[in-house]
Amino acid sequence: MTSDLDRNIQYLKGVGEKKAALFARLKVFTVGDLLSFYPRDYEDWNTVLSIEEAPLEENVCISAILLSPFTVRRTRSGMLLYTTVVSDGKNFLSLTFFNNKYVKDALKDGEEYLFYGKIRLDQEGNREMTSPAYAKVSEGGFYHPVYPQTEGLNSKAVAKAVRSALDLCGDALQETLPPGQIEKYRLLPLKQAVEQIHFPRSDGEIAAARRRLIYEELLTLQLGLLSSGRNEREKTRFTLKEDYSDEFAALLPFRLTGAQQRAVRECVADLGSGRSMRRLLQGDVGSGKTAVAASLIYTCAKNGYQCALMAPTEVLAQQHYQSLSAMFRETGLRIGLLTGSLTPKQKREIKAQAAEGELDLLIGTHALLTGDVQFKNLALAVTDEQHRFGVMQRAKLREKGDSPHILVMSATPIPRTLSLIIYGDLDLSVLDEKPAGRKEIKTYTVPTVYHERMYAFLRKEAARGRQCYIVCPAVEEGDAPDSERTAAEDYAKLLSGTVFRDLRTDILHGKMRPKQKDEAMRRFKDGETDILICTVVIEVGVDVPNATVMVIENAEFFGLSQLHQLRGRVGRGAEQSYCILVSDAKNEKAARRLAVMCETNDGFRIAEEDLKMRGPGDFFGNRQSGLPMLKLADLMTDGRILYAARDEAQRILAEDPSLTKPENRTLREKVAALFADIS
Ligand code: ADP
Ligand code: MG
Repeated sequence: MTSDLDRNIQYLKGVGEKKAALFARLKVFTVGDLLSFYPRDYEDWNTVLSIEEAPLEENVCISAILLSPFTVRRTRSGMLLYTTVVSDGKNFLSLTFFNNKYVKDALKDGEEYLFYGKIRLDQEGNREMTSPAYAKVSEGGFYHPVYPQTEGLNSKAVAKAVRSALDLCGDALQETLPPGQIEKYRLLPLKQAVEQIHFPRSDGEIAAARRRLIYEELLTLQLGLLSSGRNEREKTRFTLKEDYSDEFAALLPFRLTGAQQRAVRECVADLGSGRSMRRLLQGDVGSGKTAVAASLIYTCAKNGYQCALMAPTEVLAQQHYQSLSAMFRETGLRIGLLTGSLTPKQKREIKAQAAEGELDLLIGTHALLTGDVQFKNLALAVTDEQHRFGVMQRAKLREKGDSPHILVMSATPIPRTLSLIIYGDLDLSVLDEKPAGRKEIKTYTVPTVYHERMYAFLRKEAARGRQCYIVCPAVEEGDAPDSERTAAEDYAKLLSGTVFRDLRTDILHGKMRPKQKDEAMRRFKDGETDILICTVVIEVGVDVPNATVMVIENAEFFGLSQLHQLRGRVGRGAEQSYCILVSDAKNEKAARRLAVMCETNDGFRIAEEDLKMRGPGDFFGNRQSGLPMLKLADLMTDGRILYAARDEAQRILAEDPSLTKPENRTLREKVAALFADIS
């Protein structure tokens, strides 16, 4: 059914074909899109201050009378300056406009206007305002919406289009929330909320409109996450006859931490329950998630079942293959590796083995998800670094078996309460304890003039038999701005030919062929390389306990969570480890990130800081979390609304699990739209 909301905005008064093309750049095509194209800010023309009380350098609204006609002056650079003086009866304020010949006729001597802008002090200490927005006093007393902009389309033009959309199609905005909820949570009706978020008359109106729209957005999110069977634990034929986790523990050269043991117990209980497990294993870098997965894999294999382990990169898949093969060497477990670097023939063989049940464990990248990968009796599917995969990819792995158990592992430490909601379909186990004897990684930020000293330090570590990573932001010159050190290839050449001529250097980056990558990683792992010059390909999961120094060149290019992940590549053994962040950045945000890194090793704190600095839209964005993008809601600060939305979503789904009842049709459409672009 099409409604007025599906109409092309081109037919709105004052829009037309040309403007519609500009709107398209902002992804606004229909009237419905336009009405949900929310302002990112507001100009407050409601709070009118006197010139005296108005703070400097902040946007303020002033009501004042023009004391003189404009004077016009040409600057040396040829610009026309229009100046005048206004007063609110007590103080004076001079106004300057550049090249704006309309202002001369628009503002009349002796009349009162509203002016919106920043007041500054000129060289003599007098107050002035440059190019303020202005309006007749009769037009004041409200808020002006400020929209995300594109060239040729300013906020005023957007506001005008929204206004005519509301006039024309406002009545098409039918209530989307189920009956009763508006009263229960004291929310605004949809139409009023939309009007008010665009054209509020007070802060209170903005807050009320946001609350209503955020509630709706979060309810939709929760319905999407909890519906269509995502949340129910299906019956499964894969139940354990026996638990082999103690036998597994005896294979390890170390004792599992208390947290690891607890996680294993929680998972084993699920595996024996007769319903398929859906569990998230969350633990900071280095907390030992792999051993937990390995324990479950061992137990499943011993019960005669198959397992799959999916990793986001070739390097990591290869590493898991090697370390698990070593761990299980004496046990007779049959392990296969499926990655892009195999020949077609090798791939065919591995796939045949999996399908015939000749493999107990198949490890791979998302190559595991392709259609022709089949298992005979896949009982457990593990996804490592799950935040690198989307919700849908996770689901795909599940479809490889007959209701297999699912374990996803992640180092992205979202606060516990939040992750329960975001991963509403998953139970949670947390590794909140690091293996004993781990030392804090000492972290320093140094300017580039310290390079020589730093090289000397690396040389000393290498002489003691330790290994080092040097990470560069890009592979080749031209990928990123600045200095030879941004280019891993050139940098590797430079270092191996000069300062580290007598050491064993090697290179690893994403543009190398898979075979070459595997080889470089193997050499490093086997201790044949002293210094590995690389890019972020080593960011996730790589585990070489003998590496003790992580150098990050141009550290300002990296985000906080990424820096923490990179740092997590060292400090994996008993030796003291170091992380050296090389940066000359003066940029305040970058400096703050580096400071946080030096202050703490705690992944939870780092994630929180990251969230604060980047904003949740970015943090929980599509690719990272597998969650859809939210327009208004902030998962960190809108916690109360989130909980309410979750309760309601559960209540609605209890009565109508797949939202097929007529009264839930609008909600179902909203869910589909919200989840449409994630895969
Ligand atoms: P992550 O949680 O980041 O995936 P890994 O599973 O790679 O961490 O484990 C990090 C390192 O710690 C590995 O070298 C692993 O062998 C080692 N390790 C894991 N558990 C323990 C433990 N209980 N005691 C000592 N070392 C451990
Ligand atoms: Mg790992």
